[in-house]
Amino acid sequence: MTERGLVRYGNTTIPYTVTRSRRRKKTIEITLDASEGVLVAAPFAAPAEAIRDVVLKRAGWIIARANEGALAPNPKQFISGETLPYLGREVRLDVTHADVPGVRIRFSHWLFAVTVPARLNGDERRTAIRAAFVRWYRRRAGDSVRSAIERWSKVVGAAPTAVAVRDQRRRWGSCAPDGTLRFNWRIAMAEPELLDYVVVHELAHLVHRNHSREFWSLVELAMPDYPLRRKRLREAGPRLSV
Ligand SMILES: [Zn+2]
Repeated sequence: MTERGLVRYGNTTIPYTVTRSRRRKKTIEITLDASEGVLVAAPFAAPAEAIRDVVLKRAGWIIARANEGALAPNPKQFISGETLPYLGREVRLDVTHADVPGVRIRFSHWLFAVTVPARLNGDERRTAIRAAFVRWYRRRAGDSVRSAIERWSKVVGAAPTAVAVRDQRRRWGSCAPDGTLRFNWRIAMAEPELLDYVVVHELAHLVHRNHSREFWSLVELAMPDYPLRRKRLREAGPRLSV
């Protein structure tokens, strides 16, 4: 059985899940997972009260990180009627269960038609559907990012040596010293204007490997309304997860 707990901090209730380990000797460690929430790793015999105290002590940090989008507001159950973001819109799920070998996702007419193997239940079902969506978004992100790079390379005056789409939780994009640009697959969930901003930002890092005044003036030259897009991305960020 999964061990769960709750702490109250001001007006906020923080639910958490505990995993106990015989290998862990003393420390109680807290990690935040976008889909699983607050996870606590504890020594096998740690009293529940001690675990609660540690969560409470870190509550301010947990709430701050949640506000930055480290936690999904509500973990999805993947049932018909729920929505997932795509291209900045909330797209409704239509879920059916059938005798199929794996989860299938079809996107058409602004609807996600999801077919789920009937044998899957509970956590196993959720994990399989989520993984299928991550693969789906990843492919879409790859396509969108590549076409955006094609459009914006000339404007910025720089082109990457390679492009990759990754599962990077805390950043939308990054620029490696060898000229590889990496992007977070979740960017496929955002409006295309916001994806374009992330692409322009990373392309500009190929010219200026820092956030200097020169860097920002290059971004502005390529995309004069970048401050608005940047602000909107920050606001939309927390919703963009599965
Ligand atoms: Zn940057």
